[in-house]
Amino acid sequence: MKPLIVANWKMNPETLAEAKRNFEIIKKGVKTVKKVESVICVPFIFLSALKPTNYLKLGAQDCFFGVKGPFTGEISPRQLKVLGVEYVILGHSERKKYLAESIELVNQKIIAALGAGLKVIFCVGSETKKPDKEMKNQIEKGLRGLNKSVFDKLVLMYEPVWAISTTKSKVIATPQETLEGGLYIRHVLGKIFDEKTAQKAKIIYGGSVDSRNIKGFIERGKMAGALPGAASLDPYEFIKIVKAVDFVNKN
Ligand code: PEP
Repeated sequence: MKPLIVANWKMNPETLAEAKRNFEIIKKGVKTVKKVESVICVPFIFLSALKPTNYLKLGAQDCFFGVKGPFTGEISPRQLKVLGVEYVILGHSERKKYLAESIELVNQKIIAALGAGLKVIFCVGSETKKPDKEMKNQIEKGLRGLNKSVFDKLVLMYEPVWAISTTKSKVIATPQETLEGGLYIRHVLGKIFDEKTAQKAKIIYGGSVDSRNIKGFIERGKMAGALPGAASLDPYEFIKIVKAVDFVNKN
């Protein structure tokens, strides 16, 4: 399974010129990387101006659950698909925190996005240091109504809430904590689906990832990739993260 590295630019950068510049730098930088799948999730407003390739894919940071119609301010999965978007992040903790997005809504969005042919990065995580019932609840409710065939197109992201965007406080998860998070997710998936599905599921890690700590999450944390947020805003740092994973995978 090719590791997946997903940049989450969040509400950055301010201008299209900057977005284009950073995207092109990354495109050049990862062109020769064969053993990692690289994705950049950008604000909606930049999507139509950035041209993805087979070695640098485009992702969105959210979508709506409806197909079309009177949904002011929303973007449908189909609209993303026609723009060349391959991935969409759903259920991110920042959307829960600032927009009170419920897990029931996330579930509707996951179903709609998969139905439109998008690949989904479904974020799960809890406030507590160890994964708890809150995360179990997110997995159960977020995947309600879906069958195990979705795991071809669905990636789970383990995002311990306390480790997200901690550039100032520097609180990051250890590889052992990501290993435990991944095991817990597989345990819950095993109960919902079956053991084979649970073992096969692609689980990546998000929470203050950078080019120095990424190796530990992949090697010792057994993560199938990562989603750097803050670190991905520097295109050269993002390239370093991708190359570090490529190196681990080759050796
Ligand atoms: C994220 O966007 O989920 C994230 C992990 O961001 P950061 O790397 O800044 O913590």
